Amino acid sequence: MRIINFDICAIVLALTVLLYLVIRRYTKGRTNRLILLIAALVIISGLLDVYDSLFGTYVEQLPSNATVQFVSNTFFYLIRNLTTPAYLLFLYSYFGVWYLLKNKGIHFWVVVVPYTVMTIGMIVNCFHPLIFYVDAGGVYHRGPAIVIIYVIAAIYLTVIFSITIHYRNTVRKAEFLMLLSFGVFNMIAVIAQRIKPEMRVEVLALALTIFMTATAIQRPEEVVDAVVGTLSQNGFFIDMRRAYAVGRPTNLLLVKITNHRALRLNLGLEIYNAALQRTGAKFIQMGKIINLYTDVYYNGRGVFAIVTEADKYDQTLDMGRLVVSYMKESFTINNLEIRLDAKVCLARTPNDIQSYSSLMSFVNMFHRTIPPMDKIIILSEILDSQDYRMKSEIDNIIKRGIEENSFRMFYQPIYSVKDDKFVSGEALIRLFDEEYGYISPALFIPAAENSGAIHDIGDFVLEDVIRFIRRGDFAGSGLKYIEINLSVAQCIEPGLTDKIKGLADKYSVKPSQINLEITETAADYDPKITDENIFRLWNMGYKFSLDDYGTGYSNIKRVVSLPFDIVKFDKSFVDEMDDPKMWIAIVNTVNMLKRMNKKILVEGVEDKRTLDRFIDLGCDYIQGFYFSKPLEQAEFIKFVNEHNSGRVSHL
Ligand code: C2E
Ligand code: MG
Ligand code: MG
Repeated sequence: MRIINFDICAIVLALTVLLYLVIRRYTKGRTNRLILLIAALVIISGLLDVYDSLFGTYVEQLPSNATVQFVSNTFFYLIRNLTTPAYLLFLYSYFGVWYLLKNKGIHFWVVVVPYTVMTIGMIVNCFHPLIFYVDAGGVYHRGPAIVIIYVIAAIYLTVIFSITIHYRNTVRKAEFLMLLSFGVFNMIAVIAQRIKPEMRVEVLALALTIFMTATAIQRPEEVVDAVVGTLSQNGFFIDMRRAYAVGRPTNLLLVKITNHRALRLNLGLEIYNAALQRTGAKFIQMGKIINLYTDVYYNGRGVFAIVTEADKYDQTLDMGRLVVSYMKESFTINNLEIRLDAKVCLARTPNDIQSYSSLMSFVNMFHRTIPPMDKIIILSEILDSQDYRMKSEIDNIIKRGIEENSFRMFYQPIYSVKDDKFVSGEALIRLFDEEYGYISPALFIPAAENSGAIHDIGDFVLEDVIRFIRRGDFAGSGLKYIEINLSVAQCIEPGLTDKIKGLADKYSVKPSQINLEITETAADYDPKITDENIFRLWNMGYKFSLDDYGTGYSNIKRVVSLPFDIVKFDKSFVDEMDDPKMWIAIVNTVNMLKRMNKKILVEGVEDKRTLDRFIDLGCDYIQGFYFSKPLEQAEFIKFVNEHNSGRVSHL
């Protein structure tokens, strides 16, 4: 009985691994499946070995049948020795170099040939006792060519060692050692069993290595998204990093559910997750329908990534089209109708996205850089367009702009109705890039807020504008103050107050010469610091304007509680003034703000009719293309001087 203990242990261990993986549903993806396959092979080998031990050579008191004995031994050889090429396949998949097996090259033959030779050997063995035979008494004997089995095992182990060592840099050190242990354990076990045949540790060694592989290396929870049921974002990072590291080309289908936040809000977490799960499952199913091997990942924030092998471009394109049509259909969960809006993009790596780090930013940004379309967008077709290049390079362009000091401040004149003069200007930043010319702040400010570059930009704006106010021609122009836009990121900067005060002191500029424009969204992030900054600066004599009033949520409470001097009506007010209902809202908003002693500035006034309507309504300031576009410093001063002196009529 003692001799089967090792096998029993092996079976229990392999069964545990198998059950663990199945119960926790880590059954997706080729790598997982190969581990499952190896576990199953180990269990069968263990069972055959137990059978062989009980009825075979070593326990003579049990009755044995020579034919059954022969058949079970044959299967044992075939199945046990299949674990090594299966492990080799696992390594190709794990290291992300599965593509090397394609095109029937050397890698393919190295996997296939030795096992085929062994299979032929086993077939021949049925007729001539080449590898082993079982005598009439049911006793097992080694045949003259038993060495074939060892040679084949040695070939596989050598390849396993070489592959593991070759790609060691793509995995963590601990993983590398674990992978290496497969070869070492199995080699020791084979040698041990060769020397002492009754020591049946071979299967146990196999079971141990798959246990280690499955727990320490595979760590399925790292690569499976338990909520969505696809592979996870982490899995995507690991696999793609490896793909770039080993030079494996892929097709990458990216799907961004653009309304994912709205869905999350609308559906509640549970149904939202169910919708994601359904979508993930559909993608996996689509791959199967068109017979395409896919790895489907959920990357969070509504982004799915589907990776296929490079030579399956046409099928991947078909899959992309299926995805687009799936996205157009609505479906219901718990009687709630769900409609997904999505952008779908097909890229080739590394052709279209050269490095792993560009891939990372692309995955986060692609929905912003590609134009809205209701069909699949092929990245290579838009890659060369100026617009795409600029958007995708925006972080670098900003960095370059900061290094080379290529930001410029422009000023848009602000007309005071009461004074019938231009009393101020809004400082608006421009970025001039050698390659792309002037880039709109509407584009680079959000990107800079995202990357953190906004602080450098904000510092530049403050210093440049304050220096300008200090200049003699500013004082001579009769301008009272300049409006400076503060971004959300600046508003929540604890050191903002000291920074502004420091600069004003440095250039001897009075607080009354600066009016800071903020938007309501600043308060969404950190109302406490935002309010502290506003009140501290206000107490020092700085004034504030509430920018973009009328967009987003116009928070009356904040208008009431914060010391805004001016409320700036967004251009959307102007654009919709011909709608009678909107006009009612405008008239009453003006009324309300006046009674709160707020001044009103109307932005985006482009023609005389609009100007007259808002002046008649009692608005205090007007800004817009009707008077002037934002101008360079010198031109701005010239404009103000000419108009304020009455040399040029402005109304
Ligand atoms: P904003 O603060 O609401 O600025 C007004 C925008 O409306 C400016 O766009 C201006 O050129 C434009 N505009 C003014 N009059 C008219 C008009 O009659 N018709 C039309 N169609 N547009 C008009 P710009 O300069 O492209 O700036 C866009 C946004 O970028 C600004 O909106 C502001 O949020 C941000 N921004 C600009 N400069 C800075 C800055 O120095 N710092 C920060 N943090 N943000 C800035
Ligand atoms: Mg503004
Ligand atoms: Mg505005």
